[in-house]
Formats: sequence, C-alpha cells, structure tokens
Amino acid sequence: MSDIEIAQNAKMKPIINLAEEKFGIPAEHLDPYGHYKAKLSLEYVDSLSHQHNGEGKLILVTAISPTPAGEGKTTTTVGLGDALNRIGKKTIMCLREPSLGPCFGMKGGAAGGGYAQVVPMEDINLHFTGDFHAIGVAHNLLSAMIDNHINHGNALDIDPRRIKWKRVVDMNDRALRNITIGQGGPANGYLREDGYDIVVASEVMAILCLATNRADLKERLGRIIIGYKTDRVTPVYASDLKAHGAMAALLKDAIKPNIVQTLENNIAIVHGGPFANIAHGCNSVTATQTALKLADYAVTEAGFGADLGAEKFLNIKCRSAKLAPSAVVIVATVRALKFHGGVERDHLNQENLEALENGFENLERHLYNVTENFKLPAVVCVNHFTYDSDDETALLVKKVEALGVKCIISKHWAEGGAGAEELAHAVVEIAESREPGFEYLYDTDMPLWDKIETIATRMYGAKSISASAKVKAEIARIQPQYGNLPICMAKTQMSFSTDPTAKGAPSGHIVEISDIKLENGAGFIVAIAGDMMTMPGLPKVPTAERIDIDDAGVITGLF
Ligand code: ADP
Ligand code: MG
Repeated sequence: MSDIEIAQNAKMKPIINLAEEKFGIPAEHLDPYGHYKAKLSLEYVDSLSHQHNGEGKLILVTAISPTPAGEGKTTTTVGLGDALNRIGKKTIMCLREPSLGPCFGMKGGAAGGGYAQVVPMEDINLHFTGDFHAIGVAHNLLSAMIDNHINHGNALDIDPRRIKWKRVVDMNDRALRNITIGQGGPANGYLREDGYDIVVASEVMAILCLATNRADLKERLGRIIIGYKTDRVTPVYASDLKAHGAMAALLKDAIKPNIVQTLENNIAIVHGGPFANIAHGCNSVTATQTALKLADYAVTEAGFGADLGAEKFLNIKCRSAKLAPSAVVIVATVRALKFHGGVERDHLNQENLEALENGFENLERHLYNVTENFKLPAVVCVNHFTYDSDDETALLVKKVEALGVKCIISKHWAEGGAGAEELAHAVVEIAESREPGFEYLYDTDMPLWDKIETIATRMYGAKSISASAKVKAEIARIQPQYGNLPICMAKTQMSFSTDPTAKGAPSGHIVEISDIKLENGAGFIVAIAGDMMTMPGLPKVPTAERIDIDDAGVITGLF
C-alpha cells in the first residue's frame, strides 16, 4: 500500500478526546480544526511552565547527507515515538509542517511514511491549519507597507535600492525569483527590483519558530531590518514602519502549536517549518517545550543531514531556548551510503558491499561531528528498506559498532512502532544512563568570520572559507553591532562541501560565502555558502502531475 492509502485507512480518534486521554489536556484549551487537528492555547502552554517536575528528555533525530528522496528522519521520528510509547515511555513527537514547495516538487510531503506517519496526512501536507498562509501574509503585509511608505513620500528616507525585504509565497516558482514592481507610472508606486522567496525561507517563519510567547513574537517582528536609509548604513526596522503589531495580529493562531496523532494514536505536535538548507530547519520552540513539559520524551527532527539541521538545532535553537538533547539518533540508509560510495540513483536497490564501504565515510563524519564536536551521545538507526540485503546491513552494523556506537536496524516503516522497539530501548538506555556533556560548536562572542570558519572547518571538513570583497565588507559592517549573533548556514544538503555532486566526506575544500543576510528578528546571521536559492524551482516532472482528487473527494498521489 502507498503512504497515502495507509494513512487513509488509519483509525483516527477525535483529537480532543485523545489529547485529554493521553495527557489530560482540558478540551477548553484546544481549538479544534475539524475532528482530527487542534491548536493548543498559549494560556495552557504558559500554565505548564509552572510545573517544574517531570521535565521530559529531548531526543534529536538527524541523518547522513541525504539522497533527493530523503532518508527517513520524519518516518523515524514517528516510528521511534510510537515505539517509546509502546515500551511505556510517554512520548510526544515534534515535527515541522510540510511546505507545498517540495510536496508538489520532487521530495513529496513530510508526514512520515509507511506505518510510521502522522495523520490526517492530506490535511497536514495541504494547508493544514493555515499557519503557512498566515506567515506568508504577515510577511507580505510588511512588504506592502514598505512600498506604500515610499509611495507616500518616504519620510523614513528608505533607499529603494537597499531594501532587503522581499515577498514570499509557499510554492516552488523560479519565475518569481527576480521581478520588477511598481510598473505603470507614478500612480502605481515606485518602480524597483524585487523578488520572491519561499515562505519557509521567510524570517517571519524563523521568528515564529523561535519566539517563546506573543510579546517575544511581536518584539522580534519589530526588530526585523527591512533595508537601509539613503546614508547606506542606518537600518530601517519593521517597527519604524509600525508593521509589527499587525503582523503579530495576523499570526494570532499560527503561533499556537498544532496537535495531531500518529497511525498508532499517539500525540504529535506539528508546528512551524523552516527549511534546513536555507533557514534554521527546526520546528517551533513552543512545540518542543510543550512536549517536554507534558511527556517523558520529546522526539524531534531537524532537517536534512546533521551538518545542516542538527548543527543549527544545537547552535541556534537549543542555545536560544536553553534546551539540551539527551541523545541523538542518526538515521542512515544502506541505499544513501551506496549513493555516497558512487552508485547511480537507478542502481541503489542492488546489493553492493564495496560501494557501502566507500560511502560509509559520510556516516562516520556525521557521527564524529555529533559525538566529538557537540559531545552528545548518539545511536545510529539504519532505516530498513525491503531490498537491503542481510550482508549489507550486517556490514553496516559491524562498521558502526567498531566505532563504539550502537547501530540498530529498524523496521518502523514496514511495521510501525513495533518495528522500532529495539531502537527505543537503545535510546532510553543512553538517555537515562549517560550524562550528556553537550557543548556548542562555537561561542557567540567569536567574530562572525571565525564562527563561519569554525562551522566550515569543524563540521564540513573544509580547509577554510573565502568571500568576495563585497561580502567581507558586509561582514565587517555588521560585526560591531550584530557580531554576537549565531550563524545560520545556507548550504546544499547533498554534500559536506558547496558542490552537491561531491559525495562521501570531502575534505580540504574551500567554502565560499557568497552572501550574508542579517536576520535581526530571528536573531541570527544567514551565511550563504555557494549557490543557494531561497526560492526553489519545480523539476521537469513535478509530483503535482501525479496528484489528483476524485468525485468522492479522495486524494491520490501524495506521498
Ligand atoms: P526525511 O524526513 O529524512 O526527509 P522522510 O521520513 O520524509 O525523510 O522519508 C522520505 C520518503 O521516503 C517518504 O516518502 C517515506 O515514505 C519514504 N521512506 C522512508 N523510510 C522508508 C523505508 N524504510 N522504506 C521505504 N520508503 C521509505
Ligand atoms: Mg523530514
């Protein structure tokens, strides 16, 4: 059965009853969106902050450098969460909300797979509770207010050529990357160049995910720097345009965590969804903290490989929200390691022990980064595919265990939580026995250049970083006032280098920083490494061509 057929056969329980049954959440604190989705009130979330006993343990699910299909972090997060619940640990899974870009593009949805999914799958993948629309509209309100301000005399002296704030839409639409606005003469505003990013790259998305309450949200929105005055150096803030109050109002519901269930009727919070290659890649702090207050275990996923999602989860999100994971699960697949070992995408289903050996270095580097750079205990989860041979999985286990790390073959995709019980036991053993000695990769008081270089050399195995005179000047310009912000790297997920075709564990390369973006509201500096687009395009044959709905309203083709 396909993912969507499995999801459509799920025996869902009304979410209000389930949330009450599992965690005693009173119905009046849940805003139902239909029967199977609900938003949790912030008052309830706040009331939990006063319960200091029983703080849960945080488990981070990350992965090796993925193939374009994804290696199963979301699937593993759900499978592990269901398995932890099965072995008697009350667990809530915290996931990101899917973006329509990959849903209709190449990668597909993001609600898990096989028998490890969150449901209702179609709703979660399409529109869900409207959070992304709200984020996009809040972002675009600020865009409209910028151009309106210039139109009406530009009292703030905004330099129209130095506006950094673009517009956003939740779609892969390359035609909108660079556009001209205000065409048609003076009655239609001021002619200038502009462009669109995808919603998941918006600073508003990052802000929503890092904000801890409404006041923090509004303050961060006000701190957004939209561009500079004609003196070239004085920043113009969203608060100068008096936009932040209305933006926060538009986000009144989006800021509340969304509750859904897994196929096995366990609770998952799906909230916020920045991409991990062009943004910070983690679900909301509010969701994670709520899960930690309610449950014994909170299992969460950070996007793409550990060089991107986990690095930013640890250096940005954990630092900002004062979180520390008790264990890290690194998801690997036999097929992706063979891909790193040089096998073409069409041949990944055939046994190839030599390629697996060769590609192993990718997993080894990620493992080293987690255990040595961040000093976190890790377990490797081999997300089992039906065509993995026994010799291949045995080789992989042997190679990981030779490094002193536990390696579990997990079958949650095929069997649900029952298939991940061994993984759950391994996670519990680590989380409840060892003292994690979590360290950040860098101190925020290091100069910006050095922070970027630390990530490139220590995480990516690079020799050094480079940048044009223009980018260096920009770094020097923002250093005095914003130099103590953490770095949000934007880099291809396909490789440790900036070259997506460089597989395995390239080292000694130079990471070129092509652009720097100050995201003052989010509280980080985006360093763009190599060619990264903040607006993706659709592939030649987008998955949208396969998605359909019949007369009875049944959707097909989503995965
Ligand atoms: P990630 O979160 O790492 O991007 P996902 O969990 O979303 O990856 O999985 C990507 C895709 O791969 C999904 O469509 C899922 O159904 C599929 N998938 C995951 N694990 C398996 C598996 N063990 N066997 C077959 N397909 C799988
Ligand atoms: Mg995922």
